[in-house]
Amino acid sequence: MIRATLDTAGSVIRGSERIHYENHSPDTLAFVWVQIEQNIFARNSVTYALNQPPLHFAGGAVFDFTGKGFLGGITIERFRAIGRELARTEYGTMMRVELPRPLAPHRTIDFEVAWHFPVPPYGGGRMGRIGTRLYEIGQWYPRMVVYDDVHGWNPLPYIGAGEFYLEYGDFDVTLTLPAGFVVAATGTVQNPLAVWSATERARLARARASAQRVEVITKPEATAHGAQRTPGTKTWHFRASNVRDFAWAASPDFRWDASSWHDILIQTLYRPEATPWEEANKMAWFTIKHFSETWGRYPWPHATTVEGLIEGMEYPMLTFVPSIEKREDQYWVLTHEFGHEWFPMLVGSDERRYPWMDEGFNTFIDYGSAEGYFTGTVYGDTVRRELLTDDRVSAVPGAEQPLITKPVESRDLAWTAYQKPALMLTILRDAVLGRDTFERALREYVRRWSLRHPQPADFFRTIENVSAFWAGTRSSARYASTCAVGRSGIPSRRISSARSRTCRARTSTGSGAAGCTPRLGSTRRSIRWPPPATRRSSSFRTGGRWCCR
Ligand SMILES: [Zn+2]
Repeated sequence: MIRATLDTAGSVIRGSERIHYENHSPDTLAFVWVQIEQNIFARNSVTYALNQPPLHFAGGAVFDFTGKGFLGGITIERFRAIGRELARTEYGTMMRVELPRPLAPHRTIDFEVAWHFPVPPYGGGRMGRIGTRLYEIGQWYPRMVVYDDVHGWNPLPYIGAGEFYLEYGDFDVTLTLPAGFVVAATGTVQNPLAVWSATERARLARARASAQRVEVITKPEATAHGAQRTPGTKTWHFRASNVRDFAWAASPDFRWDASSWHDILIQTLYRPEATPWEEANKMAWFTIKHFSETWGRYPWPHATTVEGLIEGMEYPMLTFVPSIEKREDQYWVLTHEFGHEWFPMLVGSDERRYPWMDEGFNTFIDYGSAEGYFTGTVYGDTVRRELLTDDRVSAVPGAEQPLITKPVESRDLAWTAYQKPALMLTILRDAVLGRDTFERALREYVRRWSLRHPQPADFFRTIENVSAFWAGTRSSARYASTCAVGRSGIPSRRISSARSRTCRARTSTGSGAAGCTPRLGSTRRSIRWPPPATRRSSSFRTGGRWCCR
């Protein structure tokens, strides 16, 4: 439970919080670790000491993970349990808190916390504000570190390049802001009569029954709101269940469109000058439908995206996306951030260590989404070929790092965490397992690990298990391969190395002349790359690149 106030005069957020924590582990805990990410902007933060260069993405997006020199940080005013102030030590963005008495398995403890911090204008590419007119707020409240059965506590610091590893929980949040602000947040509004006008409520009711966008706040209304200063404050009350984070955005200037797909309210909020955001609601609607139908239904009551200064960031039910002139790029960022609702909001992997399990899996499903939305166009029919261009540029022998490299140690995060795993999954789908088997296996991975914390081996096991990859193998020793998929760092036991241009694995593609042919016989099927459907492109490399060296 969080009670927070935004003071726009000083752009300071003050909050109090009660954390109800249950020890689900078999271990007795003498202390807990708490995340206080705003300290990434503190004077002596590791991030400023490292002075990391910005991350450049294809298309021109640049992520600066620092606060661009802003000095802030969180002040913990109190951290109590059973009426006592607890001993605590801050280590940058992590804080160790000594418990008043050891917490046995299945026992609970309630922490009472109070804190405040100045909102940075640029918050490491993931939160921030534009003056006092637009706030996009994440990493804003003290929260528990994950205690798991692999590492125990996971107090890796938040440095910028690595994202988050978070516990699931239920949130009850009230936010008090200037009365003229409209707020979008993780969770469902609990006091609609207090925060929305009768007109807005009526339009929302229409939107809940409409696949087409309904304007809840029109452009003239948004412009008029922006020109007025409404006196006083307004308190918004939200609740959210089974989420691993809570974020929000607020502005007096928002236009607001909404539509619905299968009782999921799809909302887009944007500044009047943003283009091409009148189409964004349709893009969001298609995205949620496509991902739901392909990878498992979106489980929360709304999917909302807010246009603003953030280049792209994801939170449960809420994403931050910039305005981009080129329609295809606008769709890409919008669908990418919503793709994160599956990876890692629903499937709660450890982003701090394994960005390929959220950014990479997400990038892979984004290609399907873009192909679907732009189907029949040159862009829609060729967008996935970017992966091969990126491979040519980034897969440099000797310099390339394994896919499993931690993000803060990665020299080329855009390739290692995003494009390379997307290429790997495309090959796994098209050249190894076949689309039906692959999609069944990935859907099962989503189902098994929803609201849980999978490790890489859990992904490998699920794919192997569901695809029955090893079934029928007669000579398993021969699968101890030297042939890595794109030198990805992924154990390459699925593809065997045999002789030039010939390889063997249990896959569903047929034989072929130019690629790998099924000549060696302990297994029943062979792989061939590029797969027949895509070999018309001259930009594809020949089969030896991938499997038969
Ligand atoms: Zn992403």
